[in-house]
Amino acid sequence: MVHSKVVIIGSGPGAHTAAVYLARAELKPVLYEGMLANGTAAGGQLTTTTDVENFPGFPDGVGGAELMDKMRAQSARFGTEIITETISRLDLSEKPFKMWTEWSDGPNDAPARTADAVIIATGANARRLNLPGEEKYWQNGISACAVCDGAVPIFRNKPLYVIGGGDSAAEEAMFLAKYGSHVTVLVRRDKLRASNIMAERLLAHPKCTVRFNTVATEVIGDAKPNGLMSHLRVKDTVTGAEEIVDANGLFYAVGHDPASALVKGQIDLDEEQYIVTKPGTSYTSLEGVFACGDVQDKRYRQAITSAGSGCVAALDTEKYLSELGDVPQPKEKI
Ligand SMILES: Cc1cc2nc3c(=O)[nH]c(=O)nc-3n(C[C@H](O)[C@H](O)[C@H](O)COP(=O)(O)OP(=O)(O)OC[C@H]3O[C@@H](n4cnc5c(N)ncnc54)[C@H](O)[C@@H]3O)c2cc1C
Repeated sequence: MVHSKVVIIGSGPGAHTAAVYLARAELKPVLYEGMLANGTAAGGQLTTTTDVENFPGFPDGVGGAELMDKMRAQSARFGTEIITETISRLDLSEKPFKMWTEWSDGPNDAPARTADAVIIATGANARRLNLPGEEKYWQNGISACAVCDGAVPIFRNKPLYVIGGGDSAAEEAMFLAKYGSHVTVLVRRDKLRASNIMAERLLAHPKCTVRFNTVATEVIGDAKPNGLMSHLRVKDTVTGAEEIVDANGLFYAVGHDPASALVKGQIDLDEEQYIVTKPGTSYTSLEGVFACGDVQDKRYRQAITSAGSGCVAALDTEKYLSELGDVPQPKEKI
């Protein structure tokens, strides 16, 4: 069993930003980047997208996977030990904290590593609906993030659809109305779950329509490889009637699943299973355990906000370790 001062679990912008700061502070961080943890490649959610156009420093945009490769290289450059394994069990009941990796996590297996401090940066996954055609047109018309993708040319002045009935769906629809010719929100039930104020704004928006009791049943489009979606089959849940509508964009706003199972029951989670952090910090309910990125952020969920919170987690961790007397002191000048 190996001991480290600090272990980072995760591999998105939050994890790598924390790693860069901690490595430069000579704390020798160890980062478990996961082996298809939660079904996502090491590098996190951005590995599932094409161009990222809103991450500062890349005026011409940057591929999501390329951006994460660069972040990983920067972590490694300063000495982060990156391990391509998934942490499958974590024991936070006593210090040092213990952790096990996949396939070696039975009751009789020794922990793979112990640590004085742990940063949870395991991210979240946008829920999908597994509609026929979804796999083919994912990122070729279908998106789970209007703020990320809404401005791209394929959606300009085109009919767009949003699925969902909550505040996020309302917010996304009104955001997309800046770009699309019209935005239709499909709501499975006969009412919106959104707050009254958001519902009122959405219903009054001149470029948005809400279709109640309606679900999408199939995404249809160009048959060519990387062809774009062009239509959506929708179904009235009351009458069962189906129709095919013009649709060049489909945005899911049906929620996210934060990857917090590892710490469930050990630190505080909110009702939607996001890790609760003390506002403005990365402190969780347990001393020595910090969280950053989408696993603790249900509001912004952007690469840059994850990176920012990774910096916060690193600085909070450094302070915590220095209070334990664990931070390397600057060498005396001769
Ligand atoms: C399709 C798509 C497009 C997007 N486009 C943009 C965009 O253009 N601009 C933007 O700012 N944001 C975009 N986002 C959002 C952005 O990707 C996220 O906000 C950001 O990646 C969250 O970073 P994170 O650090 O929380 O980690 P995540 O990116 O969520 O990654 C966490 C990763 O940690 C690893 N992990 C999880 N559990 C474990 C474990 N137990 N052990 C080891 N490793 C583990 C997994 O690989 C996991 O994917 C997009 C998201 C998606 C899905």
